[in-house]
Amino acid sequence: MGQNERELHEESSPKDPITGLPTRIDLTKALDEELKSDDISGAMMVIGLDNFQLVNEICGPAVGDEAMRQIAENIANVLPFDITLYQVSSDQFALYWHDAMPEELEIIFASLQLSLRDIAAIEDKIYCTTTAGVAFYPRDGKDTNTLLKFAQAAKTIGKAEGGGDRICFFNQESYDKWHYKVMMEGLMKNSIARGCEEFMLYFQPQVWAKDGSLYGAEALLRWRTADGQILPPLSFIPVLEKTRLIIPAGHWIIEQAVKTCKKFQEYLPDFQMSINISLYQLEEQMLYPFVADCIERHGVKPSSIVFELTEGQNVTDWEFVNSQFEAFRNLGIKIAMDDFGSGYATLDFLKEFKCDLVKLDRSVIIDMLKDDYNKNLVKYSIALCHAIDLALCVEGVEDEDVYKYLRDECGAEMIQGFYFGKPEPEDVFMQRLVK
Ligand code: C2E
Ligand code: CA
Ligand code: CA
Repeated sequence: MGQNERELHEESSPKDPITGLPTRIDLTKALDEELKSDDISGAMMVIGLDNFQLVNEICGPAVGDEAMRQIAENIANVLPFDITLYQVSSDQFALYWHDAMPEELEIIFASLQLSLRDIAAIEDKIYCTTTAGVAFYPRDGKDTNTLLKFAQAAKTIGKAEGGGDRICFFNQESYDKWHYKVMMEGLMKNSIARGCEEFMLYFQPQVWAKDGSLYGAEALLRWRTADGQILPPLSFIPVLEKTRLIIPAGHWIIEQAVKTCKKFQEYLPDFQMSINISLYQLEEQMLYPFVADCIERHGVKPSSIVFELTEGQNVTDWEFVNSQFEAFRNLGIKIAMDDFGSGYATLDFLKEFKCDLVKLDRSVIIDMLKDDYNKNLVKYSIALCHAIDLALCVEGVEDEDVYKYLRDECGAEMIQGFYFGKPEPEDVFMQRLVK
């Protein structure tokens, strides 16, 4: 029995006007009924045409319709005779298959891909690929709606992570991560549109090593969730960076940090505020005029501000980075290289990056006192920075012995770490200055 004959046996509801295939409504009706049975298991596969909109855009919608008809027919022809193909959206098909094993699905997907190699309607003008997402029942869901949702998400996540043109199986862990990212993205966009209401800046003290006296702070971003939790930046900054929302958020961060610097300077006139700047922010044309205007409006000396280049990824265009920072340096703002000694921030960074100050990463000083090897590593890293005329702030100092060694044996001049204070809200930090 072919697909068309099979449809005749189903209750009639409108079919897809182009391919004549049964639709998502039919799929839901058929599968929900079958899923009522306790001992049923199998797979829902969603098949998406990766760049089908190009067919419409380049060849026109009439060719698009004809191509779609051929695609539907070719896919239906490679399916086992008892499997029905459904059209669940304009460029997505779905099918379910009781008792299917992943290997069987892989084989059927491979033959389906082959069957689409030469769709006559689009000739060799466009290369259309397909990506499939699969969810299993009852493991991933016990109703059609949930299974479609997870199969479609598996396809989207698979494409984002490893590209399309393949079959992607649903995985709860990847889904949860992806779901969190999408949710955070929505929350952040809304928050930024409302003036960054849920963002907060915490301030962590920075002290002179020689006597432990306060000279400044690093402004560190936090996010306050609807239920009052304070989230650390690493759980949402990657989302801000990926979506470039770090650009508007960055303006808010700079504005708040400079404003707060001015308040703190009423108690400590030379107070210095360090602000993290991500590479994406440097790509914005308006950053320089915004910063210049901001420090002028708040009446803060440029030399009270330090920009730390926080770098999660490798910098490939040093000329660009240096030229962007050069303008800020000319204004009087100091430039710091963050996280020296970890990740990409290696000697190569020191060679390429024109900066005034280095922040030695916490990972370098952890276990410093364990043996001479570690002691020397820290001591000579600091000596190296001093030898090339760079100021240095050691991060992550948590106890007195480490502090004393850095001060007495390594000649460290600036320290930031829990031993002298954790990041804290503005009002709490203010107590340090008032007393
Ligand atoms: P970072 O720039 O290296 O900031 C220092 C981080 O080390 C802070 O984590 C701070 O709480 C932590 N830290 C400082 N001293 C100690 C210590 O003694 N022990 C330990 N265990 N940790 C210490 P936080 O606030 O979670 O920030 C993490 C990262 O998020 C920052 O690392 C920075 O890369 C990024 N970030 C924070 N705020 C901003 C921002 O406004 N803009 C951008 N672009 N990135 C930011
Ligand atoms: Ca930093
Ligand atoms: Ca750092």
